[in-house]
Amino acid sequence: MVVHIDPTKFNRTCPRCQATVHGADAQTCPRCSGSMIPACVACGYDLAGLPREGQCPECGTSVAMSYAPDLLENRSLLFLTQLRSGLTLVIWGTLAQLLLGLGVFTLAIVMSSGALPRARSFAWHSGMSLLIQVLVFGLSLLVLFGWWRITTPDPARVGTDLDVKPRQVIRIAVVLQATAALASLIAGSIVLSAPTLAAGIADVATALGWVSDLAWIVQFFAAMLYIQWLARRIPDTKLYTDARRFMWLGPVLYTVGALCIGLGPLVALILYLIMLFVLRRHLTTILLRLGAL
Ligand SMILES: [Zn+2]
Ligand SMILES: [Zn+2]
Repeated sequence: MVVHIDPTKFNRTCPRCQATVHGADAQTCPRCSGSMIPACVACGYDLAGLPREGQCPECGTSVAMSYAPDLLENRSLLFLTQLRSGLTLVIWGTLAQLLLGLGVFTLAIVMSSGALPRARSFAWHSGMSLLIQVLVFGLSLLVLFGWWRITTPDPARVGTDLDVKPRQVIRIAVVLQATAALASLIAGSIVLSAPTLAAGIADVATALGWVSDLAWIVQFFAAMLYIQWLARRIPDTKLYTDARRFMWLGPVLYTVGALCIGLGPLVALILYLIMLFVLRRHLTTILLRLGAL
């Protein structure tokens, strides 16, 4: 499938089959003959039968705006702002997770080397462990909330829409992971206060961990598809190709790359962050041009 949106032409993407449809006047898609009459760019109101020079009866936005080429710069400011703030949360949250991981790793090395007095009280260890658990929980919630905002629905594309699928899959995976994270935090604090229950709770925590990991893997592939969809609408061919390649490169780096002194996952994480950063920079540029920043 040739995927590009030429910003110099009045192109719109068919919401059903994602074919590029030239001309703002097309009533139906030439490939799948689905309707090309858009929903209001700001509120999602069905604009069928309304004159192009009129206004949306629901929110007053000019109808012509909703017939504009299907680029992100032609979408509602609220939608774009939510996307950008979501990306900010995911980028900073992930960097903080990386720092926390390095910190915990260093602490573990220092403690096992005996540089610190080992005879710390049980309470000190429990307190420290709880603090780390709360931090891990807080940061994963931050990143998940960021993804929730990135996948905010575009009012202009309600109804039968291919980009909706990865978007909704990401949202379901996010809710599953947040629930698992909360449950494992509760389980962790119960273990600390009642060590006799530890064995049973550990089993539950392991099972929850599996659910969460599975949801994360599903979210990864959905996120790469969603980034490709957004990249087409910037348009940024390089970002599109990168996200497409990362669907196999990411898993390879994460698994095979882990054997090379564990550097693979780190490289994968950096490449992933760069893609999100590029997307965020595009949104910043668009919002600056629209005077919304
Ligand atoms: Zn179509
Ligand atoms: Zn409207």
